[in-house]
Amino acid sequence: NSQITLAVRVVSYGAGLRLLLAQDVTQLKKMERMRKDFVANVSHELRTPLTVLKGYLETLQDMDDGESSLLTNSVQQMQAQTERMQNLVDDLLLLTRLETQQRKTQCINVPALLTQICKEHSVILNNPERIELILGAQVHIVGEELALRSAFSNLLSNALKYSPDDAPVKVRWYQNAEAVIMSVEDNGEGIAAADIPRVSERFYRVEIKRSKKVQGIGLGLAIVKHALMRHDARLVITSDVGKGSCFSCYFPISQVCTPKTNTVLTEP
Ligand code: ADP
Repeated sequence: NSQITLAVRVVSYGAGLRLLLAQDVTQLKKMERMRKDFVANVSHELRTPLTVLKGYLETLQDMDDGESSLLTNSVQQMQAQTERMQNLVDDLLLLTRLETQQRKTQCINVPALLTQICKEHSVILNNPERIELILGAQVHIVGEELALRSAFSNLLSNALKYSPDDAPVKVRWYQNAEAVIMSVEDNGEGIAAADIPRVSERFYRVEIKRSKKVQGIGLGLAIVKHALMRHDARLVITSDVGKGSCFSCYFPISQVCTPKTNTVLTEP
């Protein structure tokens, strides 16, 4: 009943000399599991009080006759903060699912999925033309709809958030000999080279020294990273400070599939 988990690594020194390193990571794995369980339980438990709070705030809003600006303002502030907390809880729960749930794949119509995501984002923009979708390939891939939807949505919403309101954002789906690639390119503020390796860590946010304060939690790219890990895909970030960024998701070409029937996407 006392299983040991070993992490094994082979170090090669050339001339046929190899060193086998085995490390007992049983305790580390146990703590990792406890962390995941803890985050999952706390996020889950926070859902009920949040729903109750939102309900009462709606009642207060309905009762507000506009006589007291203090009341109106307070309700608005509380609603904004509960919304923020709701987003945090949703993101934590999604991250837990991506980390722990068993993979259940199907043949996903990525061009249709991207069309849907771009549409959803453009309807809330002042300038819907801002998003340009370039479908250089029509291929479908084996994957998980929720994970792909979350990854692509997060990349697109970041590109919109971290670039000026009128700056164009290009979403592409194309393929080369080795991979099928989804990329999001913006003409925004960019990311300094030193920050690039860290942006997909949980809660990591680059210091923003700009007048326009951008709301965020710092979980979006962690979600992207875990969603891509479930697809053996990798994320490549190229960026130029002051010029813009490009986030590319590389899916192995072996994941391309032919749909048996016309796959229907679920409603978001
Ligand atoms: P959030 O957007 O909630 O802060 P993310 O995990 O999505 O969290 O992103 C982490 C950080 O990476 C952001 O705070 C931002 O500093 C930087 N970042 C992400 N996407 C972009 C982008 N397209 N352009 C510039 N910076 C970005």
